[in-house]
Amino acid sequence: MHYDLVMHKQGDSNMPESLHGKGVISGVAMGKTMLVGQNLDGFLADYKAGTIEEEKQKVEDAVVAVVEILQESAETLKGKGMEEQGAIMEAHSLLAQDPMFSGAMVDKVDEVQKAPAAVLAAASDTANIFEMMDDAYMQERAADIRDIGKRIAKYILGVKEPELGDDPVVLCGYEVEPSVIANIPTEKIAGVILGQGSTTCHAVIIAKARAIPTVVGLGHAVEAIEEKADVIMDGDTGVILIDATDDIREQYTAKLKVQKEQEARYAALKDLPAVTTDGVRVQLMANIGLPEDAKAAAAYGNEGVGLFRSEFVFMGREDIPTEDDQFEYYKAAIEACNGNLCVIRTMDIGGDKPLAYLDIPHEENPFLGYRAVRISLHRRDLFMPQLKAILRAGVYGKAGIMVPMVISCDEVKQVRALLKEAMMELDMEGKDYSRDVQVGIMVETPAAAVMTPMISKYVDFFSIGTNDLVQYTLAVDRVNHNVSYLYNHFNPAVLKMIQITIESANKAGIWAGMCGEMASDPYAAVLLTAMGINELSMSAPSIPKVKDKLRKISAADAKRYLATVMTMEDGDEIREYLHKVVDSRVAAADAKAAAEAEE
Ligand code: PEP
Ligand code: MG
Repeated sequence: MHYDLVMHKQGDSNMPESLHGKGVISGVAMGKTMLVGQNLDGFLADYKAGTIEEEKQKVEDAVVAVVEILQESAETLKGKGMEEQGAIMEAHSLLAQDPMFSGAMVDKVDEVQKAPAAVLAAASDTANIFEMMDDAYMQERAADIRDIGKRIAKYILGVKEPELGDDPVVLCGYEVEPSVIANIPTEKIAGVILGQGSTTCHAVIIAKARAIPTVVGLGHAVEAIEEKADVIMDGDTGVILIDATDDIREQYTAKLKVQKEQEARYAALKDLPAVTTDGVRVQLMANIGLPEDAKAAAAYGNEGVGLFRSEFVFMGREDIPTEDDQFEYYKAAIEACNGNLCVIRTMDIGGDKPLAYLDIPHEENPFLGYRAVRISLHRRDLFMPQLKAILRAGVYGKAGIMVPMVISCDEVKQVRALLKEAMMELDMEGKDYSRDVQVGIMVETPAAAVMTPMISKYVDFFSIGTNDLVQYTLAVDRVNHNVSYLYNHFNPAVLKMIQITIESANKAGIWAGMCGEMASDPYAAVLLTAMGINELSMSAPSIPKVKDKLRKISAADAKRYLATVMTMEDGDEIREYLHKVVDSRVAAADAKAAAEAEE
């Protein structure tokens, strides 16, 4: 979805150029743009080839030049203490020099006649061979081969590689390859501006885990933004300003200052527990889409991972990931939790997350259709490798398996039976695995919520998925803007579902958590603590915000607010009430702390 396709100059020429997208990751960023994710199609179409011999020579020269650039960049990065990034560049330079690979690039010219096309085609052929290998490490090299091919082709085409300077940049492009964001150190990225509108693409998920202000959905208007343009972007409002006036710059500089002060306050909370003033403890965990997010989450003081959306392991590729493939992902995430629990959700495909290679026929109501656990229970070929991969990865720390979209006890019993079979298969194969992986469900359907007193017999935990629970309880499509005014996690019907779930867990002696977006709302966190929730899982940058509120509130007060809230009839009224009472409590706590600091 594009929010404003036209870049418009506002009235007089002193006004900055402005664009409007959708702010998806909060915060202001100011800096120079760095264009990323260039599509090579246009350059390839304009390319004028010489003779076959000349084209072959171009390939050879480009390989030598790119190897040199890569080696230089490896040394520079290492010199700046960026060991990991330096090692990647070094590995790329070795791959580019491989005689088989460079020979294949030169030979391909006979077939396709143009040097850049030959390089890309040879890289793709070589990457395919790597992908077919049994060894997970070798398979992962396929992406590197494609990256190197693109680099050499860009060199021949004269497309410049963006270079990082000392100041952080605002990455800008229609879309950005996740590896590009992943390989730039967080402190070098001030913000991200994307043309595409997805809020759940990998690049956005990586940016979210690192709290990088991000605006998406500018459409092709983003292509009008130039390299090194002076830009101000606001991840809260979606506003992008180019060449802003001094007055406007001043306003945003002030906003940035407040932002930095708050970040410093939050950073001081990192190693402190989320505990109310009267000692009620809640565990704050991170939601992740990729193992790297778990590493990045540590900066916010997460106590493990409460939701690893494993479908990201299945997305962005052309075939089903093997058991070994998946094992590597889960192991990396579990290890990044340093002994804390890592809850891996089994694949939640369907609904708003289709997967082309599964060939699921078009559905009228995909959110009510063939999705999540329904697919898993029908497709043993998909589910068994996933269960086995999680069990094997469990050896490297503390793992949990969480089943999405459950509506009945029967589904849980079927999953348990398959888990037993998975263990038997692993025994027969002589593979090492963990026997004490926790098993839980997402409570994200009203059916599951009302059945929690019974389902609790079969599970070790419940995690409430409010993103879906709100949509199913209120019959409000979570991605339909026309009905978004009805989508409210404080709706009393939703609160009732949540209360039933937490009470069932408390009674059964199992833990109850929440991994839907509601968990990152600090006012909701106060209410949930009063209900007896044990864990809240959210995108890591929200952790300090929630912790800050909980540490300034007493559970006794929270229980009083809860009693009042549960007599109210309207979600908006509940939100307003909570903001008022919690804010006034927090203001009192802040005033007391300031007075004590002065003494
Ligand atoms: C949820 O439904 O609350 C949830 C966490 O899952 P997802 O947003 O991936 O559907
Ligand atoms: Mg869900």
